[in-house]
Amino acid sequence: MSSKHKAGLIENIAEKLHLIPQLHDELEAELPRLTEPGKLADYPPPEKWDDWVEYEAKSWPQREAKHYMIVPTSCFNCEAGCGLLSYVDKETMEVRKFEGNPWHPASRGKNCAKGPATINQIRDEDRILYPLKRSGKRGEGKWQRLSWDDVLDQIASRIRETLQAGKNNEVVYHVGRPGHEGYMDRVLKAWGVDGHNSHTNICSAGARFGYAVWHGFDRPSPDHANAKFILLISAHLESGHYFNPHAQRIIEGMMKGAKLAVMDPRLSNTASMADYWMPTYPGSEAAVLLAMAKVILDEGLYNESFMKTWVNWQTYLKKERPGIAVNFENFIGALKEEYKEYTPEFAEQESGVPAKMIVETAKQAGEAGTRLSTHNWRSAGSGNLGGWAVARCLHFLNVLTGSVGSVGGTSPSAWNKFKPNVFDSPPAVKFWNELHFPNEYPLAHYEMSQLLPHFLKEGRGKLSVYFTRVFNPVWTFPDGFTWIEALSDESKIGLHAALTPTWNETAFFADYVLPMGHASERHDLISYETHSGLWIGFRQPVVREALRRQGKPVNFTYEANPGEVWEEDEFWIELSWRIDPDGSLGIKEHFISPYRKGEKIRIDEYYRHIFENTTGLPEKASKEGLTPLDYMRKYGAFEVETTSYNKHLAKLSNEELESTKVDDTNTIIKDGKSIGVMVDGAACSGFPTPSRKQEFYSQTIVDWGWPEYRIPVYIKSHIHEEKMDREKGEFPLLPTFRLPALIHSRSSNAKWLTEISNRNPVWMHTSDAKRFGIKSGDLLRLNTEIGYFIDRVWVTEGMKPGVVMCSHHIGRWRRPQDTAGNRWATNLVDIQQVEKGKWKMRLLDGIRPYKSGDPDSSRIFWNDGGVHQNMTFPVHPDPISGMHCWHQKVRIEKAHAEDKYGDVFVDTNKSFAVYQEWLKMTRPAPGPDGLRRPLWFNRPLRPVDELYYLG
Ligand code: SF4
Repeated sequence: MSSKHKAGLIENIAEKLHLIPQLHDELEAELPRLTEPGKLADYPPPEKWDDWVEYEAKSWPQREAKHYMIVPTSCFNCEAGCGLLSYVDKETMEVRKFEGNPWHPASRGKNCAKGPATINQIRDEDRILYPLKRSGKRGEGKWQRLSWDDVLDQIASRIRETLQAGKNNEVVYHVGRPGHEGYMDRVLKAWGVDGHNSHTNICSAGARFGYAVWHGFDRPSPDHANAKFILLISAHLESGHYFNPHAQRIIEGMMKGAKLAVMDPRLSNTASMADYWMPTYPGSEAAVLLAMAKVILDEGLYNESFMKTWVNWQTYLKKERPGIAVNFENFIGALKEEYKEYTPEFAEQESGVPAKMIVETAKQAGEAGTRLSTHNWRSAGSGNLGGWAVARCLHFLNVLTGSVGSVGGTSPSAWNKFKPNVFDSPPAVKFWNELHFPNEYPLAHYEMSQLLPHFLKEGRGKLSVYFTRVFNPVWTFPDGFTWIEALSDESKIGLHAALTPTWNETAFFADYVLPMGHASERHDLISYETHSGLWIGFRQPVVREALRRQGKPVNFTYEANPGEVWEEDEFWIELSWRIDPDGSLGIKEHFISPYRKGEKIRIDEYYRHIFENTTGLPEKASKEGLTPLDYMRKYGAFEVETTSYNKHLAKLSNEELESTKVDDTNTIIKDGKSIGVMVDGAACSGFPTPSRKQEFYSQTIVDWGWPEYRIPVYIKSHIHEEKMDREKGEFPLLPTFRLPALIHSRSSNAKWLTEISNRNPVWMHTSDAKRFGIKSGDLLRLNTEIGYFIDRVWVTEGMKPGVVMCSHHIGRWRRPQDTAGNRWATNLVDIQQVEKGKWKMRLLDGIRPYKSGDPDSSRIFWNDGGVHQNMTFPVHPDPISGMHCWHQKVRIEKAHAEDKYGDVFVDTNKSFAVYQEWLKMTRPAPGPDGLRRPLWFNRPLRPVDELYYLG
């Protein structure tokens, strides 16, 4: 194949005038194409990945051939883990660019802007290249470089002393961005510590809880590509979850005729592509969903066969309607009665969405039947008191239509998520850490991470060793000043090691800052519910792999990465050996090679074992004459199952069916526990709930003191219209929406991304702005319960009136004493504690061009780094799910004379008072049988069952 470039008239004239070089005589010759046309023509074929030739763009018009080794890895910029191909220059061993990996089953060669921007992150001139230890006071900004050996020895000896003293709950690992299947759970179990803490309760725990009470699984996996009707709650795509893989499949579904409805107070990019934009008043989504359920019931659009078999309707009738016969017709009658108040008109009154649209979308959802795909992740589920009820009511539509696990429906997440077979499984932990799962929150879906600094302040415990891993609570969490107070107090947090690829506001308050790799500088195993199927993705340090292919293997990843940037996988192995040098703590035995007796496991052996035990992978690899590990090194991904539907119909084995009985609800019981459901004479495994069915009626919720929520209902949010005094200028503030090009706290070292998005004004509807006499660019003071922030307003029609919004990515900062980092996006700020607990932040400077090895840093044209709004939010833990309820009631006023853009003021005494107020809303353990948590409720790191009981 060839292509010709013919000079146009203007080019010819410009050449003749010597305004541009003379090019075309030379280029009139036929240029060879470097990729073959046809299928995947845009991607280099794998057989050429070891020596791929492209012309050097910077040498143009000369044709300088560059030889690359193409090594796959996985993006680390959101949870989706899309495939990337890295182009490693064979001469310099530098990564030159990242493109999509067409062999990745979820991303299929495509990425969002954040994938290719990985190149910015690895080349960031401000990145941390060596391990650092503080040399001044904590938070003072003074650091000294030290070796990895010293880091490991110093931290290991501290952990060893802590464990030897039996203070296992004082060793804590707190994760922001995960990105690995079970690796760290195994490490913590090996150490014997109940030390897993996460960010999930400020992220997705609300929606997860809503799903978990239905069917044990806590995330939805919509089959958008095969759906007839797609219903998304809030800015689902822009909220970042599975952004690219879902976007592809939604478009695919729509191209085949599916209709898309989006509930979101903001006209997000997704909403703008929808057939129905449903701009709900924030927190009213469950009311709309129940009105839709009512329409489906009244119109007879429900799926009788699915509901009859898979809903625990008999239990509901027995408990709630003892006087009537237990039959399905009576159940439908009772349902109609339960939801008779949820008329479309009532939903319109709550949400502002026209009743007509609610009826129309409900009918379309009902008519889609088993092809209704739905999704709720953050947004409504994470913004509101009772936000978990949004996901619960959304899933109700899937149950009514029988679209649970079906083609074009919505499956439980775990069906599409791979569980690796790891070489060694340490026993369950024998500790229960009440700093993570306190008795006040027995149903909390994840750790009460947002309350950690308050718990420390109250003296509930302390930490001897605290790891923060790609985790930045000072900036990402609510109540950042309370975090600063806790992190600054060495009597509460003894040793803080921040494992991070880039400087962040939390690392400023660490004792050790340990540089960890970006997507192309580390190992991880990834698998997520991006669609119906099951896949694994391999994240690998690409230069290390390129060196290995050249016959120059290295021992540790930091030997191949820039500076001494390492990766967690190897760090934890080395640390574990040093915690337990003689094996007396029983830790070392869990880090022994399965292939070399008595020797320390190497990272390639860890993955070799998993891949050798992945169904279908050894066979696939051997067809190409490769080992399973080499196959993954070559392709970076493997599809374990092409589709994964209806797994609740999996048959129980004869062995499982021994000594069982079937009760009058068709549930199969063994040793007093339900293990499955009889369906037309077949014994099926069902769902992991006490009834093995979809639990419309939740006995668990009743037993744990919340009978008013025994079935899906609408819970009024803490920012319900009734709570607003509009005369005083009160508005609900939605701080949760996300700009598609940004990541929570890690995009600030990506110049392309910060160039696209670099400010976060307060969005206000034109009608509200008119009422206030406000125009775009005016300064506002937004007063929260604990302080205020000053931001500019952006007046727009692209949102619901009566609400204000502010994107949560931006407003990154550093103080004058901090090492300059992320200068594409960080404001320089002054922070003062003006009185005990009263904190003020003021901008000293915005974003400026600066000189560095990257000429682009002197071309920065923006100067606005945004405002850090999260600092002014108190904690709002939902008393049931534990989820932080992000939305705020704010009082808006024009900025005062002394106010400056970016000002933040917070009183942490007030933060503590708000924490105590919300604590009073809880209904603490024990529950039935003295339990501190229902036994069937899992935990990320589940201890032994005995510890579920209060001693
Ligand atoms: S959706 Fe974008 S950020 Fe997320 S993994 Fe894919 S390419 Fe990376």
